[in-house]
Amino acid sequence: MTAPTFADILAAGRRIAPHVARTPLARSDALSARLGAEVFLKLEHRQITGAFKLRGATNALLALPAERRAAGVTTASTGNHGRALAHAARAAGVRAVVCLSRLAPANKVAGVEAMGAEARVIGASQDEAMIEARRLVAEEGMTLIPPFDHADVVAGQGTCGLEIVEDLPGVGTVLVPLSGGGLIAGVALAVKTARPAARVIGVSMARGAAMAESLAAGHPVEVREEATLADSLGGGIGLGNRVTFPMVRDLVDDVILLDEPEIAEGIRWAYAAEGAVIEGAAAVGIAALLAGKAAPRGPTVALLSGRNIDMELHRRIVCSDTPWEG
Ligand SMILES: *Cc1c(COP(=O)(O)O)cnc(C)c1O
Repeated sequence: MTAPTFADILAAGRRIAPHVARTPLARSDALSARLGAEVFLKLEHRQITGAFKLRGATNALLALPAERRAAGVTTASTGNHGRALAHAARAAGVRAVVCLSRLAPANKVAGVEAMGAEARVIGASQDEAMIEARRLVAEEGMTLIPPFDHADVVAGQGTCGLEIVEDLPGVGTVLVPLSGGGLIAGVALAVKTARPAARVIGVSMARGAAMAESLAAGHPVEVREEATLADSLGGGIGLGNRVTFPMVRDLVDDVILLDEPEIAEGIRWAYAAEGAVIEGAAAVGIAALLAGKAAPRGPTVALLSGRNIDMELHRRIVCSDTPWEG
């Protein structure tokens, strides 16, 4: 599978426009005053299903020929990608099977079913759930739609970057949450094609930052997964990574790593100063600015990638008056 082109992102924009929200870009008066720079927030946490993943899942699904769609789609992701694929499949009248391990909590299983997908609970780990997804591909002709390492998924996520340069043609810096790299690869391709002078910076949690460690090693490496407030940024990039690792290596200017109290501060600021409930993964751009780890060069955008946070955890973070210990 080869990397997508800018033309693929434009095509994705046309393909998914009827099915996804065009999210607002809003100037943050509070961050602009604090940093003495123009700071904007891309409010992608307001996307349908609560995260940008709907863009990539919808694009990949609609790019399939009719006979592949008729056989259904599958994934082993339980988080925002699983929700997105379930929603996109239901909207397109396509069968979707989300494979989960027996460790998945009952509310996640119910959540997948509520989105209209079949939940297949099998195996003792996420890796074993993935084996079932591959079996569905081999034996039932279903199509696996992975969460990031896929050209059509990356092109779909890139439409978010397209909207940023449309709304802010003079953009100087874009801060993007980074895990497997599907979002930042697409956003960087879109933003840098339209505005080559712009910098695109990835932000990850310091605990288990798979892409950062892979970039340092020069090839994909495995990292130990640890609990983090930015749970949507957890997981590896895949040892057989083909699309996102080379794109991130070639297009992304810098990667910033944050500790847990810094991520908590981003969640808290979003709530108290911006009126936004966002998950930890989505708060890392704001957090990098607040921590002084990202310099806002030119008009600066922090991409708020999702809102799917446990509300009890959110309450504990925003109500706590001491720095987060986590
Ligand atoms: C998946 C996800 C990310 C990371 O996206 P990648 O394409 O894996 O880098 C960031 N934020 C949220 C809310 C996500 O769901």
